[in-house]
Amino acid sequence: MTEKLYENNSYIKEFTAKVISSDERGTVLDKTAFFPEGGGQYGDTGYISGIRVTDTQIKDGIIYHITEAPVEQTEVNCTLDWNIRYNRMQNHTGEHILSGVINRKYGYNNVGFHMSNDEVTLDVDGKLTEEDIIWLEDEVNRIIDENREVYCIYPEGDELRNLQYRSKLDLTEGVRIVVIDSVDMCACCAPHVNTTAEVGLLKIVKHYNYKGGTRMHILCGDFARRDYRTLSEQNTKVANTYSAKRYELCEVVERLEKEIYTLKDQLRTLRSSVIESMVQENGGKGVCLYFADDFAMDELIKLADRSVVLYPDALTVALSGNDTDGFNFAIGGANAKDRFADFKARFNARGGGRDMYQGKVQSCKNELADFFNGIS
Ligand SMILES: [Zn+2]
Repeated sequence: MTEKLYENNSYIKEFTAKVISSDERGTVLDKTAFFPEGGGQYGDTGYISGIRVTDTQIKDGIIYHITEAPVEQTEVNCTLDWNIRYNRMQNHTGEHILSGVINRKYGYNNVGFHMSNDEVTLDVDGKLTEEDIIWLEDEVNRIIDENREVYCIYPEGDELRNLQYRSKLDLTEGVRIVVIDSVDMCACCAPHVNTTAEVGLLKIVKHYNYKGGTRMHILCGDFARRDYRTLSEQNTKVANTYSAKRYELCEVVERLEKEIYTLKDQLRTLRSSVIESMVQENGGKGVCLYFADDFAMDELIKLADRSVVLYPDALTVALSGNDTDGFNFAIGGANAKDRFADFKARFNARGGGRDMYQGKVQSCKNELADFFNGIS
């Protein structure tokens, strides 16, 4: 069994140890401050005598450091990626405070916990409202500000049996209980910060119903501060672009949405009159051929429909696009079925339809014009 230095002192960043073995399963030391993956938290990373440790795992009480190369020394100096590990400690302790408060106030249990490199999710087995979430955030941050002590106890026998704590286990010995003074007790093997103030800040960034309960995405400590910086930078950028004040961005977006809606409406009206004059100007003899530079498919169909109505005895061909990207087309009117079949065969066009044939063709304007003008 590897001696777990992180259990009694979660602040060890550097240590020396003896190498027990080093093979394809990983490097085993007599003692380690590297926390192995477990309970929703990734394994620690860092260096063993300059060799990169990419992961840490535990099996039957033996901790395996996954290294990029075998470790050949017998005595080694080890260093943790301390920033990553400390952020995880801040977030894990923040999660305990939140789960503890939820359990006391609502009686819900933590039924899922996962911590990635920039996000923490927490699932509880009960529904929380918007007001609950706001209350919880305030309550947790109040406890953070109170700078309460966080420590571990190892009760045994009856004391352990009778103790009320979260994640209660059936064991009567060897249970590590993380205590947050007057707030929470929970069985947990992970390293934590020593005081609640070190959590810094807790923010519930997202919450929604999940498997009959609630899933929350939370950020603590440095995760939360980095999130605040990013949001603040984005806010300032948008506010400067639209000459808005810091807290007025929703109004700016609403105003822009209205403007877009009005402009789209005006564009639709304008397009309709453009379509009408294109069709009127065509005259409608033999083949009515239209090239529209930037029409969307629905506008192209509108154009073709109007042309067919006005000139039912002619073949209508409406195209939009360019020589590089190809052309969208709508073909209708007299003999449309046969003409479309010829066109499809000649240009290898994709598409189909009934009465009005539509699709896409890769060709150039001159060839398409020659082909359709040749029909009449
Ligand atoms: Zn825990």
